Amino acid sequence: MKRVLITGAAGFLGSHLCDRFIREGMHVIAMDNLITGDLKNIEHLFANEHFEFYHQDVSKFIHIPGQLDYIMHFASPASPIDYLKIPIQTLKVGSLGIHNCLGLAKEKKARLMIASTSEVYGDPSVHPQPESYWGNVNPVGPRGVYDEAKRFQEAITMAYHTFHGVETRIVRIFNTYGPRMRLNDGRVLPAFIGQAIRGEDLTVFGDGSQTRSFCYVDDLVEGIYRLLMSDYASPVNIGNPDEITILDFAKEIIKLTGTSQKIIFKELPQDDPKQRRPDITLAKQLLQWEPKVHRSEGLRITYDYFKSLTADELNKVEHKDFDKYNRK
Ligand code: UDP
Repeated sequence: MKRVLITGAAGFLGSHLCDRFIREGMHVIAMDNLITGDLKNIEHLFANEHFEFYHQDVSKFIHIPGQLDYIMHFASPASPIDYLKIPIQTLKVGSLGIHNCLGLAKEKKARLMIASTSEVYGDPSVHPQPESYWGNVNPVGPRGVYDEAKRFQEAITMAYHTFHGVETRIVRIFNTYGPRMRLNDGRVLPAFIGQAIRGEDLTVFGDGSQTRSFCYVDDLVEGIYRLLMSDYASPVNIGNPDEITILDFAKEIIKLTGTSQKIIFKELPQDDPKQRRPDITLAKQLLQWEPKVHRSEGLRITYDYFKSLTADELNKVEHKDFDKYNRK
């Protein structure tokens, strides 16, 4: 039986990966320090004899007894408000955390995949973004702690690959959504749906002309799995190229939820990318992969998930802090 370590396993993407690897018949070793992750996302797996959980910070020394075939380094705060609130942990998990994982991969002769991100492209001047674009990142801006940690993570992963011969994979993940996203982490989709459910106005930052391209989580996990099983060590974009302005997205959420609330405009956060859309030519060729779930379908499923949350969960509104942290 293959054994996989997943860091950030109690997070949104990590928990979906746990499900997928269990379904693939693997033994899953889940690790999370639970700073932004939530055990609720994986508690359904605790009864499974092929699932174990380590409550541990991957940025400190990690030891896993026994064989390991795969390591998926998916631990990291992943929303702008998270990395404004916990910038040092964000930098550490993308540097010390990956260093520990790479050391473990080398020792165990395991194949390692890192979760990289479209944020390596920063506020891109090339559109859509192919893997060959090197990006436009402000290292000392509010997003710098995340963007540069992820860029460093790619660099050290590639160095372990070329210098130590560790088998590595780099996935550049674009905006992804689906059940188990944190409702209150400030990201735009849960923010809008949460506002609609609570009967609040939807807060569009700036004039809403900035674009994003949203990928449903099942599509992403499929792309990740195929990339892991491939033999390609350079970065690969996985995302949905269906691009939309944030203003139009707010209108879609209003239609979906039937809320009678209106759209209000707030200040655009510093260094907020103006456009983002993956060029997925490489993933199509290499992995015969492309997203299948249309936004209308994915949003419906995600909305149903958010509606099933308890009143306590719905009313925990971390994102109101955003103004406090969004100092230029
Ligand atoms: N955004 C918004 N209203 C919100 C939260 C976010 O208009 O309540 C905007 C944000 O300024 C950005 C886009 O939505 O342009 C996506 O933001 P998110 O934080 O989800 O992720 P990003 O892609 O910027 O990392």
